[in-house]
Amino acid sequence: MLDSFGRNITYMRISVTELCNLRCRYCMPEEGVCKKAHEDMLTEDELLDAVRAAASLGITKLRVTGGEPLVKKNILSICRRAAAVPGIRELCITTNGTLLPTLAKPLREAGVSRVNISLDTLDAGKYRYISRCGALSQAADGIRAALDAGFEKIKLNAVLIGGFNDDEIPALAELTRRYPLDMRFIELMPMVDNRNFGPEAFIPCAVVLDRLPELVPVPPDGGVARLYRLPGAMGSIGLISPVSAHFCAACNRIRLTADGRIKPCLHSGGEYALKGLDYDGMVEALQHSILCKPSWHGALDAENHSRAGRSMNQIGG
Ligand code: SAM
Repeated sequence: MLDSFGRNITYMRISVTELCNLRCRYCMPEEGVCKKAHEDMLTEDELLDAVRAAASLGITKLRVTGGEPLVKKNILSICRRAAAVPGIRELCITTNGTLLPTLAKPLREAGVSRVNISLDTLDAGKYRYISRCGALSQAADGIRAALDAGFEKIKLNAVLIGGFNDDEIPALAELTRRYPLDMRFIELMPMVDNRNFGPEAFIPCAVVLDRLPELVPVPPDGGVARLYRLPGAMGSIGLISPVSAHFCAACNRIRLTADGRIKPCLHSGGEYALKGLDYDGMVEALQHSILCKPSWHGALDAENHSRAGRSMNQIGG
């Protein structure tokens, strides 16, 4: 379905839970999130109705995210059923990877074709610091499990944080030479929960090009990243610049929150309820939300924080 600005909306990101087993400093408050009442969250059947309704309007790609999607007890059933919805051609998942050692193979069997794993640092102490409670070894085991499970594509996502991991750009990029995976560097987005990050933390993806002059540009793959490759590497390096060079004009996404609201724009306040609607009501609400998708998210930088009205874990980053 085309939105009011002629963008073809084909991609829905679904947050299946706001809960997470980590507390990343740029994403979540230290105390975690207040668990919402069960009856306020989408049930599995409602979520599947929403997927069917979205597919009827032209959504072909789904990304399951959160919170941490793998802490959701019925994640395999959700994936299996979502992958089987007519019209859905691609089911991807974004995870911190720590639970992949047991779940990678079952997820692949359930129809997940691609997995993005968050990895901001290769230093165990820094990993514990940024995630407030996680262990790098668990994420590394998860990445190995994903490599063994036979996904079509594995990407590692690093949020670039000035003074924290910009010194690790070469080491993170080097992983694309050692393993068949892609590396994505993502600019830190100023959300309500990361007001305590100073302006020095918000660095543009251009620093990756400064640190890695040997990068060779490669053609885009249809995603929002500008793509490069290290000579001899198996995977690509992607730069995702929502802050320094927003890609709103090419945005083809909507987001479904775990409490059943459609957010047509990550950084805008507009939300449209699907919770409590029947299938036809969901189709209508989805159409309305797509037509209300704003042309861009407004200024976003160290001074102008996101107007999303929710933290990233409540939206599904
Ligand atoms: N728990 C999963 C994970 O860690 O990948 C999925 C949810 S997390 C919200 C999805 C992605 O959003 C992660 O790659 C995370 O690094 C990214 N993210 C969260 N907050 C962000 C921020 N303020 N700026 C940029 N990326 C952010």
